[in-house]
Amino acid sequence: MDIQGNIIQLKGVGDRKALVLKNEAGIETVEDLLYYMPRRYIDRSSFKLIKDCFVNETVSVSGLIQKVTITGFKKKRLEVLIDDGSDTLIGVFFARIDYFMKIFSVNDRVIFSGKINFFKNKQIVHPEFDFIDTESDSMQNTVNTARIVPLYPSSEKLKQAGFDSRGFRRLMKSALDHCIHLINDSIDPGILQKYDLMKLGEAIPAIHFPESFEHAEMARRRLAFNEVFFLQYYLMLCRKHLRESLPRTESIGYDASLVRGFASTLPFLLTPDQEKAFGEIQSDLSRPFPMNRLVQGDVGSGKTVVAMGISLMVSGAGRQVAVMAPTEVLARQHYQSFTSLLPQGTRTEVITGSTPASDKKRIFSGLESGEISIIIGTHALLQETVRFKDLALIIIDEQHRFGVNQRAALREKGNNAHLLVMTATPIPRSLSLTVYGDLDITSIKTKPLTRIPVKTLAFPQSRRDGVFRSMEKYVSQGRQIFYVLPLIEESEKMDLRSAIETYDHLRTVPFAHRNVALLHGRMKQEEKDEVMGRYKSGATDILVSTTVIEVGIDVPNATVIVIEHAERFGLSQLHQLRGRVGRGEHQSFCVLLYPDEISEESRKRIETLVMTDDGFAIAEEDLKLRGSGEIIGSRQHGHAGTFEFANLAEDLGLIMQAREEAEAVVSATGDLDIIFAEMRENRYSGLISGIRKKRILSILS
Ligand code: ADP
Ligand code: MG
Repeated sequence: MDIQGNIIQLKGVGDRKALVLKNEAGIETVEDLLYYMPRRYIDRSSFKLIKDCFVNETVSVSGLIQKVTITGFKKKRLEVLIDDGSDTLIGVFFARIDYFMKIFSVNDRVIFSGKINFFKNKQIVHPEFDFIDTESDSMQNTVNTARIVPLYPSSEKLKQAGFDSRGFRRLMKSALDHCIHLINDSIDPGILQKYDLMKLGEAIPAIHFPESFEHAEMARRRLAFNEVFFLQYYLMLCRKHLRESLPRTESIGYDASLVRGFASTLPFLLTPDQEKAFGEIQSDLSRPFPMNRLVQGDVGSGKTVVAMGISLMVSGAGRQVAVMAPTEVLARQHYQSFTSLLPQGTRTEVITGSTPASDKKRIFSGLESGEISIIIGTHALLQETVRFKDLALIIIDEQHRFGVNQRAALREKGNNAHLLVMTATPIPRSLSLTVYGDLDITSIKTKPLTRIPVKTLAFPQSRRDGVFRSMEKYVSQGRQIFYVLPLIEESEKMDLRSAIETYDHLRTVPFAHRNVALLHGRMKQEEKDEVMGRYKSGATDILVSTTVIEVGIDVPNATVIVIEHAERFGLSQLHQLRGRVGRGEHQSFCVLLYPDEISEESRKRIETLVMTDDGFAIAEEDLKLRGSGEIIGSRQHGHAGTFEFANLAEDLGLIMQAREEAEAVVSATGDLDIIFAEMRENRYSGLISGIRKKRILSILS
C-alpha cells in the first residue's frame, strides 16, 4: 500500500468509483480520503440489553438473528428478528428488501442501532447495523453502531456510487486499517509534547472514529495545528523568498531632519505609537526590498499624520508618493490636511472623478514630469492616463474598501514601490497572524492624550423625542450633530426616501429654528462638497446623512452622533461611525437608537459598543459574532472559509503556537531552494492533505 497512491488500491474501489470520488469529492489518493472529514457525529454509543430499552430511546443492541421474513400484503416489509438472551427485537426494512434479504442470515450476530418503537414487539425501523465477528465476538470493527458514528458529506452521485455515510465509513475503516502506520508526521515529537498534541497517527483515526467527543476535539486541535503551521510555514517562505530573491527596489535615502522638522511644526506631540510607526516605516524604506506594511489604528489615533510624515520623507528624497482614499470627501480632506501641515514647496495635488478635464491634464503632465511630488486621489488614480516619473511610495487609506486588483493596479504604476496600507478597522489578531501573514503590521494603540473618550448610549426608538431634546441642548451650546440613517441594502431609493423623510421632519418640527442639512450618496460631488464645507465651517447645526460620512471625516466641533436603526449596522461599522465625533475638546456622545424588538445578536452588538471604545477589542468581538468569513470578505480574499479545522475566534493560542514553531523551522532552514524542493516532493505531506494543500497554494498564488 502507498498512502499517496491511488484510491483504487483499496478493496471495493474500482475505476468507476474512483472517478466518482475524484470528481465529486476531490479524493484521488488514500491520503486524500483520510483527510475527508466528517461533517458531524451521531452518538450511538448507548448500548443496552433489549429488555432494558424504552420506546423512543435511541440505542444500540446486539443479538443473534433468529428469523428473516418478508411479510405484509400491500406494502411488503422485511423483518429481522434478533435475540440477546434478555428479550427479542425486530429490525424492520421497508425499502431495498431484496438487498437486505441477502445481507442478513439466521445465526449471524448483529448490532442494530436506532430509535426503539413498539408494534407487537420491540422494533427499530431501518436500523443502522454492523455484523459482529462470531468467532472472536469482537466489537472492534463496528463503524456504524455502538459508538460515536461519523456522518460524511455526500452528494447524489456519491450516494449512487455507494458513498453515503455508511459507504464512507466502511472505506475509511479499510484505509485506516491498511495505512495508518504509513502516515508521515512532519511535526517534531518534542513540539507535540510541548503543546500536548496527539500524534498524527492517532489524530486521524480519532477524527473519524472518536472514542468520545473530547477525543474528537483533541484530534481537531492537532489537525488545526497542522493546518495553521503549514499555512504559516508557506507564507513565511513566500515572504522570505520575496524579500531575498524577487523584487529589489532602491532604498530611500531620506533626510531625518526633515521629519524632525515636520514633527516640530505640528501643534501637538507625537504619541509613542506614532513614533514607533515612523521608526518601523523608516527602517522598511531604508532596505532594498519593497515595504509591505499595514498600519492599523482606531479612528482618530493619528494615522494620517504618520502618512504625511512618511510622504514628506519620500518626496524630500526627490521621489513620488500616491495616496489613495475610498471617497471623494476623504481624498479632499487628506489634501487639505497635507497642504496645511506639510512645508511649502512640497507640490501636492488631488485628483478625483469630478476633477475638471483641464486640471486633470495639468496633473497628468505634472506627474509624468515629476514636478508633482504627492498626489492624493480616489479610484481616479487608477486610470491609465495617470503615469509617474518615479513612484516610490503608495499609501492606501481604509484599505479594506479596495479590492486586491485595485491595489495591484496602483502598484503597477511604480517600479517595485513601497506599499503602506492603513485601516481603522483593526484586523483581529488571529486573522492578522494567518491570512495576512505576508504583511508587516504596525498597530497604533495609544490615542492622542487630548482625546476625550466618547460616551455611548443606547435607547429604544420610542425615546427619540427625548434624544431630540438633548440634541437641542448641545446645539444651543454651539456644538454640531451628525444624524445617521441606516443603509437599506435592497434599495438605494428607499435609503434616500428615509433620509429625505427624516430630514424633512427634523427641519420642520423639532429643529425648525436650526440649520439642518442633508447629505447622501446620490448627490453630485459639488453638492456634497458644498454641504460638507458648510458643515465643517460650522454653518450647519445638524447634518442628516446616509452612511456616506462613514469614512474619515474630521469635524472637531461635532460632538453628537445619533444613529437610527443601529441594529442594522455591523459592529465595526458602528465603531467607525462613532469615530466621527470625539475629535475635539468637548465631551462627545454617540446615541444608538433601536426598535423595541431586536434579535439577540443585534442586542449583543449594541451592548458591546456601549461597553467598549477599543477598536481592537471590537474587532475581536466582531470576529466572534460574525465568523471569519464575513470579516475577511469575499471582495478582498476569495477564500472566505479560511480553515477547515482551526477556528479563528477561539484558537488564538493554538494559532500563535503553530506560527511560532513554523517561524523556528523557517529560520533554521537556510536554503530556500531545498525547502521548495522538499515541498514539491511532498515531504510535508504529513501536515496537510493534498486537497487542502492545493487549496492553500491557490490562495497564496
Ligand atoms: P486617523 O486617520 O487615525 O483617524 P487622524 O490622523 O485624522 O486620525 O487624526 C485625528 C485628529 O487627531 C486630527 O485632527 C489630528 O490632527 C489629531 N492628532 C493626530 N496626532 C495627534 C497627536 N499626537 N496629538 C494630538 N492630536 C493628534
Ligand atoms: Mg484616517
